[in-house]
Amino acid sequence: MSARILDGNALSARLRQRLAERAAALAARGCRPCLAVILVGEDPGSTVYVRNKIRACEAVGLRSLKYAYPQDAAPAEVLERIAALNADPSVHGILVQLPLPRQFDAAAVLEAIAPDKDVDGFHAENGGLLLQGRPRSIACTPAGIMQMLGSDNVALEGAEAVVLGRSNIVGKPMALLLLAANATVTVCHSKTRDLPAHCRRADVLVAAIGRPRFVTGDMVKPGAVVIDVGINRLADGKLCGDVDFEAARARASLITPVPGGVGPMTITMLLSNSIDAAERASGSGVRR
Ligand code: NDP
Repeated sequence: MSARILDGNALSARLRQRLAERAAALAARGCRPCLAVILVGEDPGSTVYVRNKIRACEAVGLRSLKYAYPQDAAPAEVLERIAALNADPSVHGILVQLPLPRQFDAAAVLEAIAPDKDVDGFHAENGGLLLQGRPRSIACTPAGIMQMLGSDNVALEGAEAVVLGRSNIVGKPMALLLLAANATVTVCHSKTRDLPAHCRRADVLVAAIGRPRFVTGDMVKPGAVVIDVGINRLADGKLCGDVDFEAARARASLITPVPGGVGPMTITMLLSNSIDAAERASGSGVRR
């Protein structure tokens, strides 16, 4: 069997068209959706991510504001900026690019963002709402994965779903979303005993651990759906996922590539969360 490819670029392009229409409808009513992005330091990866996010905003008609701070910026200065953006009614979403330099308490910075403007879905209030099954802003990567699964009508009810990784931004919200979709969910991490055995039971396998080609072909159940979240830079400069793509593709029924799978969907869901926030602020969205 050779798995079909779940193409994140193609799905993103379709979704972003609809997002552009929603942004235009808001702008026509005098509410141009606006995302503020805060970048601290010169981490090359973060700089590229921020540039891509800002470009994506512009392409769908979202206004973006960028606030860049040096590596040695004082946390108080950034917190002051967040407070000002929280109070500014023309700003609908606020994103602080992670990781932050050492002098920052990242959790405290994320908690400083008004929950309604937390378009990354990292605020404890938004995490709590997801836990309770009444989500508002959902973390972008798992939200994008759910869209991808839905776009291909992957049956989740009763399915065995195995999530590798338990971070607050990917693994845990992913597990909650799969559970809400009535999958039977197992979460594996660095202390899991016999992780390959768990993987081999998975109808849906989500790998989010940040270890290049960790998931080998023999860990994939024949016919499984394999979602590769990992973004790993190899010595030759190329990107690869957490899954050995060719070996897994030979056994799976559906698989995401890296790049071109989950990555573009993460940015698409950031745009979607930002437009949701603008619609809520303007009174035209679904109130949750
Ligand atoms: P974290 O480093 O925060 O979490 C990694 C998780 O993987 C932890 O729960 C850790 O376990 C687990 N883990 C690490 N090594 C192993 C191992 N050998 N066996 C089993 N479990 C292991 O990473 P993130 O969740 O932030 O990101 C994961 C990957 O996804 C990274 O490659 C990142 O670049 C990528 N990513 C991609 C995005 C996209 O848009 N495509 C967006 C966000 C992230 P423990 O908790 O026990 O330490």
